Amino acid sequence: MSDCIFCKIANKEIGALVYEDDTVAAFNDLNPQAPVHVLIIPKKHIARISDVTNGEDAALMGHMMVVANKIAAERGIAEGGYRVVANCNEDAGQSVWHIHFHLLGGRQLGWPPG
Ligand code: AMP
Repeated sequence: MSDCIFCKIANKEIGALVYEDDTVAAFNDLNPQAPVHVLIIPKKHIARISDVTNGEDAALMGHMMVVANKIAAERGIAEGGYRVVANCNEDAGQSVWHIHFHLLGGRQLGWPPG
């Protein structure tokens, strides 16, 4: 989508990617909430996780999870622990309407989230 900021990042029009393959991209969050805070996105524009209703998109979400694990290992937080979060719609705090998994780690994370 031409006016989607995460599509622009995935297309390398703005920002810098820390990971990329044919279907997934990842970049550091602009406002990090932990020493490691990476956003993992599908290159395909899907607005929210509740829009994932078919097998192809479900496989894409699974691949994003594998990418999150890979980045966690590369950043040295795999053993200590990390969190993967996807906020869906306003009550969950979603503010960008392109699916993104937050990968958070590098400090003790609180639970439950606010
Ligand atoms: P959410 O509130 O779950 O939709 O998360 C959106 C996240 O995107 C927030 O953590 C923002 O800090 C982050 N964000 C927004 N714009 C950018 C950007 N241009 N580059 C990197 N991260 C961004």
